[in-house]
Amino acid sequence: MAKKSKETSVHCSFCGKARNEVLVMVQGLDVNICDQCAEQANQIIHEELGLQKSNGKKRKFKLGPNITPVRIKEFLDQYVVGQDEAKKTLAIAVYNHYKRLSQEVQDDIEIEKSNVLFIGPTGTGKTLMAKSLAKFLDVPFAIVDATSFTEAGYVGEDVEGMLSRLLQSCNYNVEAAEIGIIYIDEIDKIARKSDNPSITRDVSGEGVQQGMLKMLEGADVNVPPAGGRKHPEQSFIKVNTKDILFFCGGAFDGLEKIISRRVNSSVIGYQQSRHTEVKQENILSMVTHQDLKKFGLIPELLGRLPVIAYLQELDRQALIEILTKPRNALLKQYTKLMALDGIELSFSQDALEAMADAAMESKLGARGLRSICETVLREPMFELKTDVRHKKLLINGEYVRLRLGNSGHSKSA
Ligand code: ADP
Repeated sequence: MAKKSKETSVHCSFCGKARNEVLVMVQGLDVNICDQCAEQANQIIHEELGLQKSNGKKRKFKLGPNITPVRIKEFLDQYVVGQDEAKKTLAIAVYNHYKRLSQEVQDDIEIEKSNVLFIGPTGTGKTLMAKSLAKFLDVPFAIVDATSFTEAGYVGEDVEGMLSRLLQSCNYNVEAAEIGIIYIDEIDKIARKSDNPSITRDVSGEGVQQGMLKMLEGADVNVPPAGGRKHPEQSFIKVNTKDILFFCGGAFDGLEKIISRRVNSSVIGYQQSRHTEVKQENILSMVTHQDLKKFGLIPELLGRLPVIAYLQELDRQALIEILTKPRNALLKQYTKLMALDGIELSFSQDALEAMADAAMESKLGARGLRSICETVLREPMFELKTDVRHKKLLINGEYVRLRLGNSGHSKSA
């Protein structure tokens, strides 16, 4: 067992310093180690095992062997149904970003980060994908709504508020927050009203986009700890956003029209049949930064969102899979809830189809499924526990339609 040496003739086996040159010398059987070398050894172990101290030179993220684009996609597959193209795009962007952070030596070639713009209808999995990624990487994550911000100095929240949210999610651990992920939802709602710069001040649209620029690119930002407005008496927390990965998402209603106008006009005078080949559902895959600029995002913001991932509208089969397949699929959750009361809940194929059809009708994508399930299962969940005769419950299509019809769900949603 190690004990402290009292002799001045004892030397550190690592740096050779004598006992009287150091504060502490720990003596082993055949070796000695001084306090400075022990400290260094501790640091090496720390570095090998995980997150690094961020002093600008050391790596900030340890890219384990499990983190590859293929593994990232496989992980997403467990939670997100379909959207293969978006998953691949995202897996590459995220892998490259964290590979950049795991670099040990900083040389002249600085790899720029790849913030991502998600385009796709509501309820197709944009937020879910961002959330799942943060879970996979085990990094802090915050979701913010672009519409809640206004240009600094106007009524509303300043854009720095999004960093407060990120800090809150990791208990104000600044080092962790600085490699986190922020998902900015509804980015399409802060588009400027026309393609040309506005004459009057657009404080909740273009103004907010301007406010985001520095943050998306990377800057030291003074964040008011409690979020919201700055007060002179508040002390700020400095957060560097250089290594924070930003995802921006939106439905971009009307973007298809802009794209088809461009695609169609580019083939005028050419073979008429060319543009009929472009199917409406694939049109989003042809989006360019030029279309997004037309939509109302400023070029400077687009320049900071180099990766575009587009998500498809979910079809009936995808919605059925969402109900049943993901790790914590909705129906798995309800089945578990009922099982806790000793009731075996199951669904027929036509029940699943009826629920998927109702979700499609609601135009809310998978977002509508939750309330559909609640409506369908409300009565059974209310009654069954007291009615002990029913131990098994099979929900069929007729029952789904009846419940949804009675509630007016499909009409009102
Ligand atoms: P949005 O695209 O509007 O950000 P979300 O990711 O918030 O949509 O999805 C809303 C809900 O719908 C999520 O909680 C999730 O359960 C479900 N969902 C949406 N798309 C998918 C999908 N592709 N796979 C699995 N679940 C999904």
